[in-house]
Amino acid sequence: MEPKRCRRVVLVPCPFQGHINPMLQLGTILYSKGFFITIVHPQFNSPNPSKHPEFDFQFVQEGLSKHDFASGNLVDIILALNERCKIPFQECLLRMMLQQESHDEIACIIYDDLMYFSEEVATNLSIPSIVLRTSSAASLLSRLAILQLKEEGYIPFPDAMSQDPVPEFRTLRFKDLPICNFGTPENFYQLLAHMCDVKTSSAVIWNTMDCLEESLLAEQQLKQFPIPIFTVGPMHKFAPACSSSLLKEDTSCIEWLDKQDPNSVLYISLGSMACTDEKELAEMAWGLANSKQPFLWVIRPGSIVGSEWIESLPEGFMEAVGERGCIVKWAPQRQVLAHPSVGGFWTHCGWNSTLETISEGVPMICRPCFADQLVTARFVSHVWRIGLQLENQLERNEIEKSVRRLMIDEDGEEMRKRAEDLKEKLEACFKKGGSSYNSLNKLVEFISS
Ligand code: UDP
Repeated sequence: MEPKRCRRVVLVPCPFQGHINPMLQLGTILYSKGFFITIVHPQFNSPNPSKHPEFDFQFVQEGLSKHDFASGNLVDIILALNERCKIPFQECLLRMMLQQESHDEIACIIYDDLMYFSEEVATNLSIPSIVLRTSSAASLLSRLAILQLKEEGYIPFPDAMSQDPVPEFRTLRFKDLPICNFGTPENFYQLLAHMCDVKTSSAVIWNTMDCLEESLLAEQQLKQFPIPIFTVGPMHKFAPACSSSLLKEDTSCIEWLDKQDPNSVLYISLGSMACTDEKELAEMAWGLANSKQPFLWVIRPGSIVGSEWIESLPEGFMEAVGERGCIVKWAPQRQVLAHPSVGGFWTHCGWNSTLETISEGVPMICRPCFADQLVTARFVSHVWRIGLQLENQLERNEIEKSVRRLMIDEDGEEMRKRAEDLKEKLEACFKKGGSSYNSLNKLVEFISS
């Protein structure tokens, strides 16, 4: 039976795939709990409203051009979004408040931690706000560690690639810290300070789980102003039908997977933003070909610098792999990871991909590209020990060895066992009575009150 809806929750996602997915999953969950949902989104990268008829969409004009986004300088893009969305967002909320009736009053605004302008607008209009953290607790702690090192005068480091442990966070080496090289250092630190600070927001929602990060979440609460936290991951498991892909998913790869042996296929995807160059592409291609393992490879159009799609794959590669390889532009990733033929995932360690992989008990080859991916790769390979990390320059022999190590060797088998154990722990979190399940109910009570 449809719940009787009361109160509205306004959600503000950051307009990138890895941020849109968890926010729309949260929207789907809160809709199922009886709230009206409005998604306020910049024009750029907007999800298709017709795929989400249950939500009301409002678009704000951020005035950034395709050219601005194409620069790839994520730090400056996010700073600009925060500057330019503030006034149109406030105007949009004022219009909504004029039209609202008592049964659909705005209960709160939930915003991605990168869209921190929302907090200021919420305060101006006396609406409560909640932060959604779309990455791990470890990532936030690594950012706090960077800010502390900066305050103590240690930045810039003499050797950013140092293998020494970070004193404030000994699991990480200096080279794992998510220091961005986009734009100026001043802009980077400004963004970091904004996203770490919850300001006047009344709670934090985390897309993570106690079974993965309980002690880190507790540490974060000690280090930051203690407001309620709701640990409700993995959200895709609470909203399995929610699909918010900006690119068209090629489902033909599922038929190809159906023909492969159990646990035999290596799935490869570097997410929605990471790019490679032609040289790395050639090393990857020959490493995969020489490993003799079947593989499903997502190559996003435009993700190889200087190419439209796969025209720069090395000559002879397609012939060498034949039916053993399948290449698509974009895959139905959750379905792929749940497929019995998939036995490993070569991933860039984006947080959504990591949660989706752990949820299916699949071991990983980690090749982080930037930002929090570096932190997650370290946790996957050295804390949860469910994967191995490719650390050096990509080289075909090294890749071939790593693929075989993960997919065939005893070492890989142990990683698979640990991944399966972790999957079970994670299931216990989101099933009835589990920590995420209970936390979600508390979140609903919190918003309703
Ligand atoms: N994804 C997908 N199909 C693909 C590749 C990725 O649906 O072929 C989805 C994936 O399931 C995940 C998101 O895109 O939910 C990527 O987010 P993530 O945080 O892993 O990485 P980002 O793209 O932000 O770097």
